[in-house]
Amino acid sequence: MPGANGYSILFEPVKIGPVTARNRFYQVPHCNGMGHVRPQAEAAMRGMKAEGGWAVVSTQETEIHPTSDLGPYAENRLWDEHDIPALRLMTEKVHQHGALAAIQLAHNGHHATNHLTRAPVLGPCDGPIDTVFPKQARAMDKEDIRNLRLWHRAAARRAKEAGFDIVYIYAGHQMTLAHHFLLPQFNGRSDEYGGSLENRVRLTRELLEETREELDGHCAVALRFAVDQMKGADGMQAQEEGRAVVEMLAELPDLWDVNVADWSNDSQTTRFQPQDGFQIPYVEFVKQVTSKPVVGVGRFTSPDLMTSLVSKGVLDLIGAARPSIADPFLPKKIEEGRIEEIRECIGCNICVSADNLGVPIRCTQNPTMGEEWRRGWHPEKIAPKRNETNALVIGSGPAGLECALQLSNRGYDVTLAEAAPEFGGRALRESRLSGLAAWKRVADNRLWQLQQRANVQMFTDSPMTAAEVADLEIPNVFAATGSRWLRDGSGRSSHAPLPVEGLPVFTPDDIMAGELPPADGPVLIYDDDQAYIAGVIAHHLAAAGRQVILATPGAVVSAFTELTLEQARVQTSLIEAGVEIIPLHLLQSADAGGATLGCAYTGRPRAVPCASLLMVTARQRDAALYEELKANHAHRFTTLELIGDAASPGLIADAVYAGHMAARNFERDPAAADADWFRRELISLNGMGGS
Ligand code: ADP
Ligand code: SF4
Repeated sequence: MPGANGYSILFEPVKIGPVTARNRFYQVPHCNGMGHVRPQAEAAMRGMKAEGGWAVVSTQETEIHPTSDLGPYAENRLWDEHDIPALRLMTEKVHQHGALAAIQLAHNGHHATNHLTRAPVLGPCDGPIDTVFPKQARAMDKEDIRNLRLWHRAAARRAKEAGFDIVYIYAGHQMTLAHHFLLPQFNGRSDEYGGSLENRVRLTRELLEETREELDGHCAVALRFAVDQMKGADGMQAQEEGRAVVEMLAELPDLWDVNVADWSNDSQTTRFQPQDGFQIPYVEFVKQVTSKPVVGVGRFTSPDLMTSLVSKGVLDLIGAARPSIADPFLPKKIEEGRIEEIRECIGCNICVSADNLGVPIRCTQNPTMGEEWRRGWHPEKIAPKRNETNALVIGSGPAGLECALQLSNRGYDVTLAEAAPEFGGRALRESRLSGLAAWKRVADNRLWQLQQRANVQMFTDSPMTAAEVADLEIPNVFAATGSRWLRDGSGRSSHAPLPVEGLPVFTPDDIMAGELPPADGPVLIYDDDQAYIAGVIAHHLAAAGRQVILATPGAVVSAFTELTLEQARVQTSLIEAGVEIIPLHLLQSADAGGATLGCAYTGRPRAVPCASLLMVTARQRDAALYEELKANHAHRFTTLELIGDAASPGLIADAVYAGHMAARNFERDPAAADADWFRRELISLNGMGGS
């Protein structure tokens, strides 16, 4: 019941121009790797947010014309009327659950690569496109600008036809023409669209006015605007031109959706920005300037913070991308006073990585994200048990915890055995490293729920042997025993162990267990993994006063973190912490005098004196218990399954997903599960579009 728990203000309706949001929970546009390539999947995912109580559910950015082609990325597309039915799938799903549907129209200017359409790239000025590719934008002439305005009008008309309630003009993230024209960094024009701020705002103003005219009161018009580029005096600043833009356009949109640019600043991870609501200092002025409703973001998961922001008049609507991904039912849980059940976003940006890879969205906390349509998974519902039987889950890392939780949700009696003194596995271990504290939420949320269950028994300090497992006579066993980092140097670059002797060698597991390398000389971290953990540990050890050298075969540190929008911050922060970085080098050998590295291209050796070595190369699956059970006791079990990192080392998100999948598939015919992998959106052979 709204009001019952002190959060009633969050459930007040908000008028947005001609439409009304039923409450203050607003899912702002966010990418998801589905878009025009997988429209049914996107519709189901957006519909789930509406079912979970969000008042407004938005698309991701929607290309309005073939000159704004973001392929191969799977954004939304509204080039012509053939794209309307796919988008209508989403508006229907969102409306079914009483929410408003918003669409973020975008022309991406020189951010678009036009690889698919091979159209010329447009921009305010001549200049290279955003990505490294030998292609440049041409400065738009007056005819180009007139055309752009017509394309926006046409897209708004189609958006209305597709059933959207709110239509966006998008001037954010440095990703659209509206934003490019606003920023002197991109706009060096000398005509009426360049120079003074009034001139640079002209295009956004025209787009707003013409979209409003086109929609004629049938839909609200929103402006997504980045008030600050977080570059200090080198970019737009909230208290200077950012504020001036809001003052100039104050009453023109029906809604202000405000944030910071670029995307890596807007979607900062907890590793670099642990503070929920970190964007508030930038956007809090907006409501003082306009009478229109304002939505802002900043990884909001705390209803207390949300309530205070609304009460103090900072925001009218609580915007969320990642919190709505981690928990599509966040509003419902607040409304029903189920605060402890909220799956809080951990700020890891694995969701973002999927968009950057062009594959369907996934989430560390919410394994059902992206699976709503293709697997029919619901974040809050799971099929009840088929038979009266029970299960043993061995290991309480992300895979074991999720598997145990979902089995208990299905109604099975579950025993969870953990060798360590605390539950949580790698979620707990990794959260002890500097910057990763929020990752503990993966364990906390699941543990809290498991502790409420009458059908779950949980034991720490219980390293299970095969004989002990067999003696328990539990017919269904899930081995979620995890993996360990290798100490011998084998991994991606060398399948054989490396010749190392005469100096102490550590692994990430040692550091996570609280050990530190000796302080009497530099520690060389060899990062052949190239994901995130070596960079995190380099930071951790530098903070502990160690002299750190990080060598990697990669050209940059933690190359994987490009996908999570963190790489520049990783490298900058390591340089600032005094870590010596040696890229493009492989470890050849090490002895008491130090390490010998070899150039990744020529093999030319380079001596690097160090007192200890920390190997971050690859992991070994901890599958011995499972192998023994399978070899000697298989006849005792109906189910014996290896899951998570013990089956296939990967991300925490992969382990959670594996645990969830195992619980969903439990008591399902394996042949049927294999035949029915997931539903696919097959390409139509109709040849629609064009003439
Ligand atoms: P995952 O990511 O797959 O969940 P983790 O490494 O996070 O894997 O967790 C594996 C957990 O399994 C660890 O907490 C470890 O202590 C526990 N474990 C490993 N072997 C046993 C065992 N024989 N008995 C009980 N717990 C075990
Ligand atoms: Fe949050 Fe990580 Fe899930 Fe993204 S993947 S929504 S950052 S928990």
